[in-house]
Amino acid sequence: MAAQSNGLYAECILPLDEKAIRVLYLELGDESDEIRAHLQLLSLDTDLPPQYECVSYVWGDPSFTKRAIINEQYIQITKNLYDALYHIRSKIKTMVIWADAICSDSDVDEKSRQVAMMAEIYRQCSKVHIWLGLPEPGSLIGDPFEFLDHFVRGKHFYDFPACDNILNDFLQVVKSPWWTRAWTVQECLLPKETVVMFRTWTVTWDYILRAGHMKNSHGDGPTKCCVEANTVFNPHQLDTINGWL
Ligand SMILES: [Zn+2]
Repeated sequence: MAAQSNGLYAECILPLDEKAIRVLYLELGDESDEIRAHLQLLSLDTDLPPQYECVSYVWGDPSFTKRAIINEQYIQITKNLYDALYHIRSKIKTMVIWADAICSDSDVDEKSRQVAMMAEIYRQCSKVHIWLGLPEPGSLIGDPFEFLDHFVRGKHFYDFPACDNILNDFLQVVKSPWWTRAWTVQECLLPKETVVMFRTWTVTWDYILRAGHMKNSHGDGPTKCCVEANTVFNPHQLDTINGWL
């Protein structure tokens, strides 16, 4: 696991006889503030829906870590998880977050019990934040999700502006390693609300599905309005777009 801890879980032991998880109370913060949080138990065996949000992310290179303060202890977490918490945290309120690397102990028994509960954890959360990561420095010109707006607004392939910026920015999103990880489908479909984040840009999962649906209504759709889509994008670009959406 990414979080290296020293007795971090000793005061927050998961009960064996009920469905429970540890959640992070992630303190509000500005850009310059360190990531600061504390762990608490949360029962999933309740009549009222428990209030917490999940973070779905790739672990990233375990040799790149950053420091966070959990239960007043310094721990090292992967840079990618750090970036996720840094961008997801609120400036005005404490958030209740489940992030596997910090909320689960690497103890083998506990790990296997939590893995068995994964679907439940995602089903009961109020929202999941899918963290795609950060773009390569200087690689983005505008909003990388503007590409989706094009189709959601009902525009055609042939309406695309001649410059490649919108497509190139979007392809940064497609390149995120998150799309190749396991569990993605249930992490997107089980929660009540799913938000996709790339640095500070966000889009809902439903919006992506809508863009894909509307894109597919061109070309091979009933109107056949955009059968020459491949004159707008080259075959490789078209494969990438179609494969992703
Ligand atoms: Zn069309």
